[in-house]
Amino acid sequence: MDTVLGINDEITTCDCCGRINLKSTVVISFDGGLTIGGHFGCVCASKIMKTSANSMVKMSATLTLEARIEKIAARWLSEGHTPSVTARGLWNKFGFPIDETETGIRFKSETGEWKEVAA
Ligand SMILES: [Zn+2]
Repeated sequence: MDTVLGINDEITTCDCCGRINLKSTVVISFDGGLTIGGHFGCVCASKIMKTSANSMVKMSATLTLEARIEKIAARWLSEGHTPSVTARGLWNKFGFPIDETETGIRFKSETGEWKEVAA
């Protein structure tokens, strides 16, 4: 099963058509998430995932946002903010529903899995 694993903004070449200097690539697994199958631009990724280029662009924007949230959450938690302050701060900043957990925060990702960030 083809699965979108996330977004990579360091790898900017599409493995499918070879386009370079993309803003970011969509990381897709061809075996249900076990291994990375490749990095693709939004258009090629949308063909692989059998969806429209438009919805792939939207999904990629959401995944980029999620990666930012994870980074900021990790920093705030490491700076000693409590999970509850961190969750509320992220909600205010991004308007993204975020739960606090005993050790950090978690949110439901676009790919359907819970992403947890622990202190
Ligand atoms: Zn491509």
